[in-house]
Amino acid sequence: MKPRFFAARVAARVLLRRIWFKSGITDPHAVLGSSLDLASRDLMLTVEHVPVILGDNQIAGVLNRLEKRIQLATKFRHTSQRFTCAHEIAHFILHPGTIYFRDRELSAPGIHREYFEIEADAFAAEFLMPRKFLDPVFRNMFGGPIDGTILNPDLVIAVGTGVDTRTRWTPEEFTFLSPLDRAAAIASAHTYKGRFFASLTDQFNVSQKAMGIQLLQMGLVK
Ligand SMILES: [Zn+2]
Repeated sequence: MKPRFFAARVAARVLLRRIWFKSGITDPHAVLGSSLDLASRDLMLTVEHVPVILGDNQIAGVLNRLEKRIQLATKFRHTSQRFTCAHEIAHFILHPGTIYFRDRELSAPGIHREYFEIEADAFAAEFLMPRKFLDPVFRNMFGGPIDGTILNPDLVIAVGTGVDTRTRWTPEEFTFLSPLDRAAAIASAHTYKGRFFASLTDQFNVSQKAMGIQLLQMGLVK
């Protein structure tokens, strides 16, 4: 069976391959680091950072197709702005029938959204955290997929040291968190079984929530 939003993910990979080829950069990780700049240049999109969009504090980003312009609200975190930018690029490529998009921040799965919004999120996730890259990185850090529903003291030590994690859980409590909360905590872990590393959120420059959703969808965390 094809994964959900197969076409959106393929479109993200095609764009990544094209900007990688055109950039002449040999290290694929270096391409990922500047992929949004390279992509907007490739598509001849102007990206503007502004304090507030349309006087509405809730709006994180807009795409104006006619002006080939993306605006991002700087009141949101840098990692959030990156995801929103990739989301607007997705609309530009995938949804040519609509001229204007205005978007809020990435929301948790389960909240009802239109099909094309979830499709744009799938594109953005693949563009910023390509499965082909993320999978070996995760396996190297954690030794394989992690089942957070099983008691695992190593995991609690790991997520307890995550920079964004304010809570310390007992191993029992951790197994009772929502899958997304567990995955988001693992996304910002800096250590596992005595080894130290840059967290996944730092390596891919994405939010805990964005990485958490991607880890769940890839079946690397449950
Ligand atoms: Zn959208």
